[in-house]
Amino acid sequence: METIYSYSLKSLEALMEEMGEKKYRAKQIFTWLYRRRVLSFSDMTDIKQGLQQKLAERFVIDPLQVETKQVSSDGTTKFLFRLQDGSFVETVMMIYDFGKSVCISSQVGCNMGCTFCASGLLKKSRNLSSGEMVAQIMHIQRMLDESDDRISNVVIMGTGEPFDNYDNVMEFLATINDDLGIAIGARHLSVSTCGIVPKIIEFGKCGIQYNLAVSLHAPNDELRSELMPINRAYPLDQLMAALREYSSYSNRRITFEYILLKGKNDSPKHAKELANLIKGMNAYVNLIPYNKVDEHGYMQVDRDGAMKFYDALMKLNVRATLRKEHGSDIAAACGQLRAKRMKEGE
Ligand code: SAH
Repeated sequence: METIYSYSLKSLEALMEEMGEKKYRAKQIFTWLYRRRVLSFSDMTDIKQGLQQKLAERFVIDPLQVETKQVSSDGTTKFLFRLQDGSFVETVMMIYDFGKSVCISSQVGCNMGCTFCASGLLKKSRNLSSGEMVAQIMHIQRMLDESDDRISNVVIMGTGEPFDNYDNVMEFLATINDDLGIAIGARHLSVSTCGIVPKIIEFGKCGIQYNLAVSLHAPNDELRSELMPINRAYPLDQLMAALREYSSYSNRRITFEYILLKGKNDSPKHAKELANLIKGMNAYVNLIPYNKVDEHGYMQVDRDGAMKFYDALMKLNVRATLRKEHGSDIAAACGQLRAKRMKEGE
C-alpha cells in the first residue's frame, strides 16, 4: 500500500480535493504526520472518523520496518530498513559539531556502475517513492525525539542516484523542507549526483536554496570514465558547462566530492588538473577517505597522503576540506550493509 508520506503539502491539498474533502484538511493531516509524528490515522483526533477510515483504507503511514540498527563507537547510527516489497535500504545518522546529519538512500540499488562503489554491486531494482525517503527521515527524527533533539542536515548520498529519480527526490525535499512539517531549511539539504547533466540544470532552475554536491573523483576524462561510466555519457566539458549554468541560477556554492584512491587520483599532477578544472567556480572540494569495498581492488590513501593532496590543493588556491571517517567499525559506508545482508539472504 502507498504511504501518505509521498504527498508534499501541495499534493496532499490536491488529494483532499480529489477525495471531496476541504483543502484545509491537508494542513491538519500534514501537521499530525510531521509535527506530532503520529503513526496511525486514528490518532488524528481533529480529523473526522470517516476521513480517518478512508485514509487508512488507502494509505499506510510508515512503510519501513527496522531490519537492523547499529550504533558505532562515534555515535554514527545505521539503519537497515525492509521495504514493503521485501527489499532493503540503508540510512545513516552521523554526529557532527553542527548537529545530526542524516544520509538517505534514493533507490534500491544503483545503475550508475561506479567501479569503486558498493551500491552498484546490486543493480537498481527500483526507485524509492518520495514517501520511502521521507520515512527514513521520520525514523531518525522519532529516535532523536527521545532526547529532544532534531535532525539538522540531510544529504541524499546513500544508495542510488537521486537525479535518476528526480521527481520523487524533489517531492521528498519539498516535504521535509516545508515550514509546517519538520522544516529542515533548504540550505541544510544536499543532493549528491554522479553528474546527470540535464538534471543539474533543472535543479538549478528550481529556485530553492538546496545544496548540490557532485561526485567528481577524477580531474580528467580518461580517468573519470574509467572510474565512473556516467562520464562517457556526460564528459567533463559538458558537466562543467552544466555546473556553470547551474551557478548562474543558484548562488549556492557547489561541493565537489573527491574520494582519494591510492595511486589512481592522488598525485600532484591530479591536484593541478583539479585546480585548473574548477578554477573560477564558486565551489570547494571535499576530500573523502575511501571506504574499502572487498569486491573492488582500490586502496585507501592514508592520512599523510590525504594531507599532502590537501596541501597541494591549498597551494593552488583551491578551497578544500578533508572529511573525517564516520562509523567505519559498522561498515556504515556506501551500501555495504545492504550488500552484506543481500549476500547473506542468498
Ligand atoms: N549517486 C550519487 C549519490 C550516492 S553516492 C553520487 O554519485 O553522488 C555518495 C557518495 O559516496 C559519492 O560521492 C560516491 O562516489 C561516494 N562513494 C561511493 N562508494 C564509496 C566508498 N566505498 N568510499 C567512499 N565514498 C564512496
